[in-house]
Amino acid sequence: ALYHAKQNARGQAVIFSTEHAHQITRRSRIDQELKNADLEKELSVLFQPFVDSETLTIIGFEALARWDNIALGRVTPDIFIPAAERNGLMSHLTLILLEKALEAAKLWPDGTRLSFNLSARDIVSPSTVDSLLSIIAKSGFNPANLDFELTETSVMTSFDLASTNLTRLMNNGIGIALDDFGTGQSSLGYVHRLPLRKIKVDRSFITDIDTNGLSRNIIRTIVDLCRNIDCVCVIEGMETEEQVTILRTLGCAIMQGYYFGRPMTLDETLVRLQDQRKA
Ligand code: C2E
Ligand code: CA
Ligand code: CA
Ligand code: CA
Repeated sequence: ALYHAKQNARGQAVIFSTEHAHQITRRSRIDQELKNADLEKELSVLFQPFVDSETLTIIGFEALARWDNIALGRVTPDIFIPAAERNGLMSHLTLILLEKALEAAKLWPDGTRLSFNLSARDIVSPSTVDSLLSIIAKSGFNPANLDFELTETSVMTSFDLASTNLTRLMNNGIGIALDDFGTGQSSLGYVHRLPLRKIKVDRSFITDIDTNGLSRNIIRTIVDLCRNIDCVCVIEGMETEEQVTILRTLGCAIMQGYYFGRPMTLDETLVRLQDQRKA
């Protein structure tokens, strides 16, 4: 590999591989574009359906953010969410995205659920929580049909503050879902100390569920855990019919994944909901 010598802020020589140098260049470009972007215009929301495991009908959608920038093209959230976090822009993005998602949700039939992802930064800031609550109140969306999704890591970083703010959201009728369950540092020590409505099991647990008995046992254990602590169990990343069949017998309540639908536009959600009513 090629290496470049550079100087860091303290004037020390630092060695980068070419690849690393490219990564840093791309990063700082993304940071730059993000700071200058017209986020109201460039951010949008797609919606991925989730279904009731028994009836296999769509009961709601998860909002998934997209960023379309003239210079960069479409940027995926795995890239721009961390960029927003390191540039202190995360709460700004979150509030824009929540407004857009709730605006879209107005067009769905009453009772359709919305799941919305929050970042670690959002949940440690009381003023962001104030803004979230006022956006929800203004939208008229029933908070009983709204869940905020948070990863284990984002809650753990500042547990007491996060837990206070989550309780506040819960007291306003909003549900909390623990996202990517099973991928964080550890889970069981604190799940019972959080006001959780849902646990979303990471898709890594089901990729080999049709061939691996151990994976099935792990899922069975998590489904039991959810039942015992009165949480709704959601399995994400369902891609095949075999997975769906197995997960239904294991008894999880809600399923989500490409098998049921990819993230789609608002118009596409309306077609899916319409088709479902006719069927
Ligand atoms: P996530 O919350 O775990 O969302 C699920 C991700 O897995 C989505 O990727 C979704 O498109 C993808 N996915 C869903 N079903 C399947 C499947 O069956 N197979 C496979 N291979 N993938 C599936 P996406 O949209 O690229 O989002 C990536 C992550 O970015 C999300 O992971 C979430 O952590 C974050 N994110 C997305 N939108 C937002 C947002 O508005 N705010 C925040 N804070 N984070 C967001
Ligand atoms: Ca999520
Ligand atoms: Ca997830
Ligand atoms: Ca994730």
